Amino acid sequence: MRRLRTQVAIVGAGPSGLLLSHLLALRGIDSIVLEQRSRDYVEQRVRAGLLEQGTVDLLREAGLADRLDREGLVHEGFELRFDGSQHRLPFTELTGWTTCMYGQQEMVKDLIRAREAAGGQVHFSVDDVAPRDVATTCPRVRCTIAGDAVEIAADFIAGCDGFHGVCRQTIPAGAVTTYEHVYPFAWLGILAAVPPSTVELLYAVHERGFALHSMRSPAISRLYLQVAPAEPLADWPDHRIWAELRTRFALDGEEALNEGPILSRSVTEMRSFAMEPMQYGRLFLAGDAAHIVPPSAAKGLNLAAADVRVLAAALTVWYAEGRPDLLEGYSRVCLAAMWQGQEFSAVMTSLLHRFPDEDRYAVKLRQARLRDLVTSRAAATAFAEQYVGLARTRLTGAAGAALSARPAQR
Ligand SMILES: Cc1cc2nc3c(=O)[nH]c(=O)nc-3n(C[C@H](O)[C@H](O)[C@H](O)COP(=O)(O)OP(=O)(O)OC[C@H]3O[C@@H](n4cnc5c(N)ncnc54)[C@H](O)[C@@H]3O)c2cc1C
Repeated sequence: MRRLRTQVAIVGAGPSGLLLSHLLALRGIDSIVLEQRSRDYVEQRVRAGLLEQGTVDLLREAGLADRLDREGLVHEGFELRFDGSQHRLPFTELTGWTTCMYGQQEMVKDLIRAREAAGGQVHFSVDDVAPRDVATTCPRVRCTIAGDAVEIAADFIAGCDGFHGVCRQTIPAGAVTTYEHVYPFAWLGILAAVPPSTVELLYAVHERGFALHSMRSPAISRLYLQVAPAEPLADWPDHRIWAELRTRFALDGEEALNEGPILSRSVTEMRSFAMEPMQYGRLFLAGDAAHIVPPSAAKGLNLAAADVRVLAAALTVWYAEGRPDLLEGYSRVCLAAMWQGQEFSAVMTSLLHRFPDEDRYAVKLRQARLRDLVTSRAAATAFAEQYVGLARTRLTGAAGAALSARPAQR
């Protein structure tokens, strides 16, 4: 068996694992990233696209935003359609913060290139990853790299391996409390090679179900339809997808929607999951490994980046000063932000979707909430602060000084 040694063994080369590795390297902390999929696969995986300003600022401070600053689409508001009328929520006017549309796979490509350029160790197509002895001060990760059995000794293990990863499973059941909620619908998402029909995100609340028009670039549109859970993709040929999108976005009988070749399609279940605490011994979970939210409020990737920011800062203080207090407080800081994200995701999900069992009374209540949002500046501001991520900075603000992505002055 080949034996390696690092300071932080990171499982998973999604946004969380790669960003953590990069932030640690900026502070001179060594890590090895282990990813079960191929590089090509993780670079092509289509998922999130809405980055909050706090996430963009973190990437910028860490020197990761050159391409994002050139290609990302900065937004200052979104459109909301319901009851046959269109309204705009100008979140930048209300909060001073913007959002940025930039595909998660592009962010992952940028991160991999940055790790490569810095000589970072990222191993793809790694099999049999198994964290060991996480409750001790000498945790290890066993795995198979290019057919060789490898054991990596580390000071800490970061579980950044997503919802279906292996790290969370290594924590004894009695050591954590888990929370789960499954929604009775799913999202059918498509990526299409067609210029977006809208400049800003367009959320459409329709009696047939919710639809979202998003975008990844001036030439690529991303669109979603609320569908039944476990909806077979085979039931959705291109013409049916476009027809349903046209219907749900239609305004005053007009069905204007740019259509083009569909590059990829998938059905995503709508689920919330959380665990407390997010750490066990020397194992720290970050991002989707510890919590997931339905994509309605686009919080998943942003919460993942927020976790990583806290974890990188806590590890930095541990290595620089030998202080364990920030590591011990990791869960507390992240969970407050995470529950805020859970709550807002649940609010947006119930505001936008048609629930299969809802009665006419529930429909009327939703319409009243939507009307309030577009007529009350106070309601719109409170909503916008959550939407752009500003509300989260208040929760993590106290710890903020220690959390800068900039390398510490030595
Ligand atoms: C359709 C959709 C739309 C979304 N839209 C948004 C949005 O607009 N904004 C937003 O903020 N969020 C959004 N999200 C959520 C966002 O994509 C996730 O929150 C984000 O991917 C979390 O990053 P992560 O690195 O924590 O986990 P992941 O991206 O899941 O990465 C985990 C990595 O670990 C690897 N891995 C798993 N198991 C192992 C193992 N045993 N060994 C080694 N490696 C392993 C996986 O292959 C993967 O590469 C969306 C999600 C979906 C599905």
